[in-house]
Amino acid sequence: MKAKVSRRTFITSAIGAAIASTVPFAWKSSVVARQSNAQFYRFKLGDFQMTSIGDGVLDVPAKLFAGNASPAQLSEVLQQGFQGEMLTLNCNILLVDTGTQKVLIDSGSGFLTEPTAGKLIGNLQTLQIQPTDIDAIIITHAHADHVGGLLDKSGALAFPQARYFVSKAEYDFWTNPQVDLSNIQVDEKTKQQFISAAQKCLGAIKERVTRFEREEILPGFSAIPAPGHTAGQVAIRIVSGNASMIHTADVVHTHTINLWNPSWQPIFDAAPDQAAKTRQEILSAIASKRQLMYAYHFPFPGIGYLRPRLGGGFEWEPVNWQFES
Ligand SMILES: [Zn+2]
Repeated sequence: MKAKVSRRTFITSAIGAAIASTVPFAWKSSVVARQSNAQFYRFKLGDFQMTSIGDGVLDVPAKLFAGNASPAQLSEVLQQGFQGEMLTLNCNILLVDTGTQKVLIDSGSGFLTEPTAGKLIGNLQTLQIQPTDIDAIIITHAHADHVGGLLDKSGALAFPQARYFVSKAEYDFWTNPQVDLSNIQVDEKTKQQFISAAQKCLGAIKERVTRFEREEILPGFSAIPAPGHTAGQVAIRIVSGNASMIHTADVVHTHTINLWNPSWQPIFDAAPDQAAKTRQEILSAIASKRQLMYAYHFPFPGIGYLRPRLGGGFEWEPVNWQFES
């Protein structure tokens, strides 16, 4: 016998069914749409509270990191590394809370590269840290994906209370009226974009910047000269108690191409041979000392060790995540 369904019952139960089936999904989809995976990772280095923060990603053709390798050599590496011809590079920003100061190393892209990057400030705010809370920013080099975040959308300083530190060699290189990018294999327009981004960002901090020439930058932070990618690039040694870590800036961009083959030249190295020598020296020292390393463009959060690789180069060993910090 067919159940008699009055119009009223039908409407009520239809609404009930709609609520039962759509509310949970509506709730789920709004959460899924707004949430992404973790964009920060906290860990300890001695007494320092460290946080690796994602500034986002940049999609870059793999061949740009292997200017002097043959297509066959490169495709073999990509095949072994489970990668395609387009790489997604992370941009990892290191925040160090020393207990007395909050120090950032580099600032990400801000509004100067792609919309896939420039997420530092939003992610800091998720951590309840405002731009005005940042005391110091150490700049490894003045490429747009490292200094663009110094400026907000209007071109004003995004971190108005911070003091800034950049090597004198880097500052002088980009503020010279004749910036020499003759060895970079990009067109003139792109070169001009490199120069104008650097000059804009360095110009904005000129009243607040320390141009360092010595190793010591701040207590706990010292510079390791790493020229070649840019003239005055530095890697940063961070020490707290017996613990230490080296932030390698853009000494190495990928955990496969340039780590396995340190002599392969990214096309945007200003002095390719010098950059290759720097890469080999710094990576060898890190591997032989079993030194903890932080890599700006490696898969998030960019923390790990190097070991010599059979057949040459180095292999990346990411650390296990700590789930308490
Ligand atoms: Zn970079």
